[in-house]
Amino acid sequence: MELAKFSMGIGDRFGRQGKAQLEAFVLAGQKGANIIPVWNKSNREHLIVHTEPSEVRLEADAAVKVLGWKHPYHVDADHIGMKTVDRFLAPSDFFTIDVADFIGKPAEESAITSLVKDLHKLCGSPAIAHLSSPIKIDEAAITRVGKKYLAAVQEAGRVFKHIAQAKGADRCIIEVSMDETDSPQTPDELLLILAAIGREGIPIQTIAPKFTGRFNKGVDYVGNVEQFEKEFNDDLAVIAYSVKEFGLPKNLKLSVHSGSDKFSIYQPIRRAIKKHDAGLHIKTAGTTWLEEIGAVAEADEAGLALVREMYGEALKRFDELCGPYASVIDIKRERLPSVETLNHCSGADIAAAIRHEPHSPKFNSDLRQLLHVGYKLASERKDRFNALLDKHAAFVGKHVTYNLFNRHIEKLFC
Ligand SMILES: [Zn+2]
Repeated sequence: MELAKFSMGIGDRFGRQGKAQLEAFVLAGQKGANIIPVWNKSNREHLIVHTEPSEVRLEADAAVKVLGWKHPYHVDADHIGMKTVDRFLAPSDFFTIDVADFIGKPAEESAITSLVKDLHKLCGSPAIAHLSSPIKIDEAAITRVGKKYLAAVQEAGRVFKHIAQAKGADRCIIEVSMDETDSPQTPDELLLILAAIGREGIPIQTIAPKFTGRFNKGVDYVGNVEQFEKEFNDDLAVIAYSVKEFGLPKNLKLSVHSGSDKFSIYQPIRRAIKKHDAGLHIKTAGTTWLEEIGAVAEADEAGLALVREMYGEALKRFDELCGPYASVIDIKRERLPSVETLNHCSGADIAAAIRHEPHSPKFNSDLRQLLHVGYKLASERKDRFNALLDKHAAFVGKHVTYNLFNRHIEKLFC
């Protein structure tokens, strides 16, 4: 099973926007951009909203059937590990093996010695085309990367074997993610990590490193865009080299776990993939839910009341909601409107505060981030929320499709 050159991770906390999301890919096709949808939902999300991975498969299959989608599509077991993978095995065909927790854990001394021996041929300055500056490797660098990453690579190998045993190695797409960790991986670290992954025999088709800068949930990139562009280009050069040298699948590509909506790096990414003729997997899963609440707030009085109620609750339960996402959000509490303020705002104003139009004077990125991680509150009011989504399905769906196509796909691929 081979992942296409361009693919996008999409998502849907409450499982009702499958068709609206797929419509964005149909629009892309009409504009000549063939992007493959990958429905993803992490274990964390399933636990918070009490859903099962099999429901994601049903949603994807139903959307594909209704729209007559003729291209591939996949269902991603997003951020799984050995402890969580089992209930994803049957419904998923894409597995994002998250080994961030194993970064920095010590591997056996003998394993590191043998890694250094095997990778010794890379010492010096490997002939990697299109790098911004040459990468220099020595034994100390291999040892350092081995100490930091080898345990993580070994764990990815164990999880891959477990998946392959259950499904067959050729019936799954494997991604390895290292993004949810403290420090970014530099291009030279990426080179050695890929060498170790190839040596471990893991047929990865995408790798999600942590890039430089902050990837806060649901809002734009924060960091040095020039530096990002340089590293992203170097990463692509390293991947092309690694495919040839380490026996990795030829369609291996970068996966950008964007945390959604990194508008300011879309142009640099677009330039880079064009320049290197590279593929791309980009995850932008979380914002479907934000489109839902924006639309619900605007749709009618009951929707507006529910959104105000959830916001009031979100302020009270701030720490509980933000806790699991602490490393990927950055909310200035003093910029959050009070409940009283929100009670005097119209549905349209609340929607404008939530929707990601960074140049709109009404947009409030702090409010947006809080609601982004506050989806638990809707799951606690599931019946009311779902009834509103169903009642206003066409209106909500229009916003979901617009968001995915106009704000993301068109800017990256069309
Ligand atoms: Zn991620």
